[in-house]
Order: sequence, then C-alpha cells, then structure tokens
Amino acid sequence: MLRRFDMEGKTRTLAVDTRTLQTKILPLPKRTMSCRPDSRYRRLLRLAGSPPYPLQNDGITHGKHGLYLTTDLCPSSKKGFEKRLYEAIIHRFSHAVPVTLFITKRWIDRHPAAFEMLRQWDANGFLAVTWGNHTAWHHYHPGRPLEENFVLSPEENLTEDILTLEKALLERGVTPSIFFRFPGLISNKKAVHTVTHLGLIPIGTDAWLAKGQRPKEGSIILVHGNKNEPKGVTIFLKLLREGKIGKLRPIEEIY
Ligand SMILES: [Zn+2]
Repeated sequence: MLRRFDMEGKTRTLAVDTRTLQTKILPLPKRTMSCRPDSRYRRLLRLAGSPPYPLQNDGITHGKHGLYLTTDLCPSSKKGFEKRLYEAIIHRFSHAVPVTLFITKRWIDRHPAAFEMLRQWDANGFLAVTWGNHTAWHHYHPGRPLEENFVLSPEENLTEDILTLEKALLERGVTPSIFFRFPGLISNKKAVHTVTHLGLIPIGTDAWLAKGQRPKEGSIILVHGNKNEPKGVTIFLKLLREGKIGKLRPIEEIY
C-alpha cells in the first residue's frame, strides 16, 4: 500500500503489485499486507535510491530489452499537443502501444481536451499508458543555476508537489503509477530520497532524442508530448518510418 485516501466517502488505497510493478486502487484491506524485502519492487526501489547522486539524469536510465518510450508533458503555453506522435505509434502497431506519460497538473489544467484524448486512447486500447509523475507544478527559473532550479528551487515542497499530481489524476479517474521523472532531470540526494520514500522510482533517460542521443537496445527514449521540443518528435517519427523502433515495452518491464 502506497497511499490511503477517501474517495466518494469510502477509504481506498493505492497499492502496488510487487511482482508486476503495476498499481491499483483497492478497498482498504482488513488485514495488514506485507511486502517481502527481496521483492522485485523493493530491489528496484533500493537500486533507484542508491548513490551516486548526479545533479543531472539520476534514476534508472536504461532497461534490459527493447525500447521504452517516455513522453514528458511539462507545463506549456502551446496550444494542443504532439498528436502526430501518438497517432503514428497507434497506426504503426496493431496492439495497445505501451507509452509512459510523465505528466504535470499545470499541463492538464491548461490542456483538458488533449488530456481527455490521451485518456480515451488508453481506455479504448490504442495506447497502454503508464501515468508517470512529473510533479504538479514543475518549477523552472530561466537562467538560474541548476543547483537552485527545478525541484532544487528554494520554494519547492517536493512531497506536496508529487502528491498534488497524484490527487489530480485520481480525481480524474486515472491511476497513478510508481514511476517519477524529475523536472529538467535535475535532482540531489535529498530529492531522490523524498521520491523513493514515497515509494516512487525516478526514471532518467539514455536517449533524449532532441539532444542528439540515439536509442540502442534497452534505451529509455525521452521526447516531449507538449510541443515544447518538436525536434525530438520529428527524430522519433523518422526512426519509426525507417523501421528503427522495434518493440516498445512498458516501463514496468524495465527491471
Ligand atoms: Zn519536464
């Protein structure tokens, strides 16, 4: 059990399956459930929270097999979203396409129609969405040093920022996953431990396409779904057309 909360007058829990790493909303159990210390989930959580603690790109940065597509939905003043990206993968694969959306509350609030479309694609089996946490507010100060920026900004309350996003998803009928991405991929030891103490796994990248990195076996691909970085999406679509994007796997299979 990761959280407990009230929903429509009933107590519910957000629970994680320690073998599949999938989350579910369940009624409060009558007996206490325990988690074996050597479960797949516990091992991944320990790995994600261990040193070193690089300022940039901490967390899990690659998996074992296939490719993992992650699309960030940071706050954006752009209208709409990268529909061309999601439509291309839906058309390319016949099954529900696994994709992780690292989402923020500020993006949802400003793009209700886009959020609804993504939710529908997930519900209708076109996409198999893992709803990842990218914080509610995604603080950012242009020009400020990285050590005092993003979640390291002085005004940050990371626990509140993470739980506010989870609440925003739950209120909209969406189940939050255990996967988290630091805004700007910037963090320190304290921030990593705040995330892992909430039971979440920080996910970095070894294939940020717009930065010139190219996917290889096991890569976690990062593109932006919010139109803030069209270059990365254009590169992804080119790789897809060239047949260089093989099997996309759900992020739950990363470890
Ligand atoms: Zn972001």
